[in-house]
This record gives sequence, C-alpha cells and structure tokens, in this order.
Amino acid sequence: MHTYQVQSGKKITLKDWDPADLSLWDKGKKEGIKETEKLVKELQVLQEKIYAQQKHRILVVIQGMDTSGKDGAIRHVFGLLNPQGVFVKNFKVPTAVEIAHDYLWRVHAHVPGNGEIVLFNRSHYEDVLVVRVHNLVPRTVWQKRYDHINQFERMLADEGTTLFKFFLHISKDEQKERLQARLDDPLKHWKFNVGDLEERKVWDEYTTAYNHVLSRTSTEWAPWIIVPSNRKWYRNLVIAKILVEKLGKMDIKFPDPQSDLKDIKID
Ligand code: AMP
Ligand code: MG
Repeated sequence: MHTYQVQSGKKITLKDWDPADLSLWDKGKKEGIKETEKLVKELQVLQEKIYAQQKHRILVVIQGMDTSGKDGAIRHVFGLLNPQGVFVKNFKVPTAVEIAHDYLWRVHAHVPGNGEIVLFNRSHYEDVLVVRVHNLVPRTVWQKRYDHINQFERMLADEGTTLFKFFLHISKDEQKERLQARLDDPLKHWKFNVGDLEERKVWDEYTTAYNHVLSRTSTEWAPWIIVPSNRKWYRNLVIAKILVEKLGKMDIKFPDPQSDLKDIKID
C-alpha cells in the first residue's frame, strides 16, 4: 500500500500529516517537474487505451481547502490528455433544482461511462464538509451520509468504476501565501473570492470535518490518498505517480482488431 493512502478504518488526524512532506522524491524541484512530465506521457498512453478499450470507468475525486490546488492539479496532471475521453465536473453551490433532490442525485449523473475518465473538482464530499461546517442541514441528516457515500462508491466500484480520491493537504500558512498571491497578481484577481476569507476563519472546523471524512470514507474499494500539497510540483508528481502505478496494474490495453488485418488490401 502507498504511504499516502489511508488504510480503511484508520483514524486520521491531519495535524499528524505533514503538508510539506517530500519523502517520495529526493532529487529536488527541477528533476521532479521532469519526472512529472514523463509520468504525464505515460498517462496519455494509458488514457488512449482506456478510451479505445471502452471497458474501464475512471473516477478521480479531488478535494481540498480553498487554494489547495484543485484547479492546478487538474491542469497540470490531466491537461494534456485527450479531451474526447476526459471530462471535468465542478461541483458548486447546488442550484434550486439540485437542492430539491437528494445530495447524490447531481453527482450520480456525472459518473464516468465506459472508456471515460471523469474528474470531480469538489464532489459529494461537500455534503459532509461545507454542509457540516455551516450547519446547512441538521447533524442527524449529515451524520448518515458517510454510510451512504461508502455504499454509493461501493456500488460504483462493483459496477466497474475505479475510484481515486485525492485530498490536497496544505497548511494554513501556505493558504495565507496563496491568498496573498491572488491579491498581488492582477492575473489572479479573478480567483480571489472574498468568501474564502470567511472560510479561512473556520479552518479548524474544516480540518475536523476532513478528519472525519478521511477516517470514515477510506475504503478498500475507494481509498483516500492524502497528497502533501504545500509544494505544487510535488503535488502534481504524487498524483501522476499514483495514477500511473495503479492504472498500470489494471487490464488496460488496446482492443483486438475487428478482423484479421493482415489480409486486407486497400485498392
Ligand atoms: P469553487 O470550487 O472555488 O469554485 O467554489 C465552489 C463553492 O461551492 C465552494 O465554496 C463550495 O463549498 C460550494 N459547494 C460545493 N458543493 C456544495 C454543496 N453541496 N453545498 C453547499 N456548497 C457547496
Ligand atoms: Mg474557491
């Protein structure tokens, strides 16, 4: 099992996990970026096969505090894949129609079909994170959701979906720097959300909510991976490495040609 993978049933306290850990790579940033480029090329080949084979369904859930790098990870790790077979779904504040349904309704509609990789930028986990922190529904309601989520993901896995769940772990100090960078750089102003400052005030409540998520929903069929994300290049490297390793062990290959091609002659 991978060092960053959360063992099923293990109680997680994020303060014991170093967001600046670099233990999978000791050759520094420059070489690390090169390694990620290599891994992304391998990922491209794997994705082409997944798309051609039309068999596997890959769901990648990305969670993390504001500024933890969800958008950056999507751009850097998945940005060079073939958009025909890769879809990104962002989960925002639910719309009126979404909120009029159970919380998994909007999620299930976007899970991958055969040959597809779907990236969830935020996910059903918001329904036990922001919802819990801000009391958007009573405790008696959100408390039951951990079990629902485990069963929902189990159903997806039983039906042929492979799940990856990455939690991008940053420190509160790192968040401060990233928010400041958004203020300082005019090209990043669009990303500065005053609401993020309110969320920062309840950092500890979010940490508690994440501790519960990581402790209660890391299962054999859908384990969490805690990605040390204080350094962006290392975050990308870890995600790419884990994907390539795990996908590499699956039965991913080009399908056999429809017929014997060697006798075909094109006039
Ligand atoms: P961003 O990812 O920065 O574009 O922001 C999306 C916002 O939507 C975040 O503030 C989330 O907390 C919020 N959000 C996502 N899912 C839910 C949900 N189920 N209930 C309430 N807010 C949500
Ligand atoms: Mg945001």
